[in-house]
Amino acid sequence: MTAAMNQSLMRDMEYLRLLETAMEQSFNAVLITTASLDFPGPEIVYVNAAMTSMSGYSREELLGATPRLLQGPKTDREMLHRLRAALAAGEYFEANTVNYRKDGIPYQVEWNISPVRNEAGVVTHFVSVQRDITRRMQHEQELKRIASTDMLTGLANRLSFDRHLEKEIERTRRYERPLSLIMLDIDHFKSINDVHGHDVGDQVLVHFARVLSENLRTTDFCARWAGDEFMVLAPETALSQAVQLAEKLRQAIVGTDFPEAGPVTASFGVVEVGPDELATEVVKRADLALYQAKAKGRNREMAN
Ligand code: GH3
Ligand code: MG
Repeated sequence: MTAAMNQSLMRDMEYLRLLETAMEQSFNAVLITTASLDFPGPEIVYVNAAMTSMSGYSREELLGATPRLLQGPKTDREMLHRLRAALAAGEYFEANTVNYRKDGIPYQVEWNISPVRNEAGVVTHFVSVQRDITRRMQHEQELKRIASTDMLTGLANRLSFDRHLEKEIERTRRYERPLSLIMLDIDHFKSINDVHGHDVGDQVLVHFARVLSENLRTTDFCARWAGDEFMVLAPETALSQAVQLAEKLRQAIVGTDFPEAGPVTASFGVVEVGPDELATEVVKRADLALYQAKAKGRNREMAN
């Protein structure tokens, strides 16, 4: 070997050492397999430290195995199908699925996979870079939950209700099914605040929300719309049944002991969503019916 060749080899070795160090320190998991797509499938030939800590398998356990080792019941089969097709075509692929640690605990993994070609252009390996996004997804779900919940009562908030109403109106139109809306407002709630204080007013709102929830079906959607105003969206419910439901709620409230503030009543506006009616129009109509119930003396429901 000439001195020049020796020097170039030394440089290659140093380069490899640097790359290996970078791989081992990477926060992302890296897994390299052979490109064999025939049974028993690709064989793992390299994993970095992040891959072993993410999966709970040792390097010895992973090397020589197939990536199937990481899959389980919740792994997206349809995605695996698309993956195979992409790999067979020598294409880059990225996805998001559930994998399983050695101890059986599932984790959400975001990953991509690239074919590696030799000088002749033949795919010899697949390089996959993966990231455990379980915590990020849980965090996102928690933020979504907070953004759609009324913090005082735990019911859905107005934003969530508006979205739900749009979706239900669309569904009701597509399947030509009835959909009704009940808008309700606590009677003389201001005087509860004035007489007993704002904190007691808050307790009454919480208690009131609980009475509503306890008297609704799981398919009904109940939200706090504003202050002492609430909405109940009842799918598969025509106007006459919705009026009955409002009457049931009215009686449940009258029959509830609110130890915080004495008797509580509410007024109700009931409407059935008409064909081609917009969400804003439905709400306006319910509001008008509620106004009429208030004007007629409160503690009653009016249909519109
Ligand atoms: P009506 O029978 O006409 O509905 O009379 P009302 O006194 O209930 O009047 P209205 O519905 O207009 O008043 C609602 C009151 O609710 C006004 C506001 O001070 C109070 N409020 C709004 N949000 C909250 C809240 O989060 N906590 C408490 N304690 N009070 C609230
Ligand atoms: Mg009120």
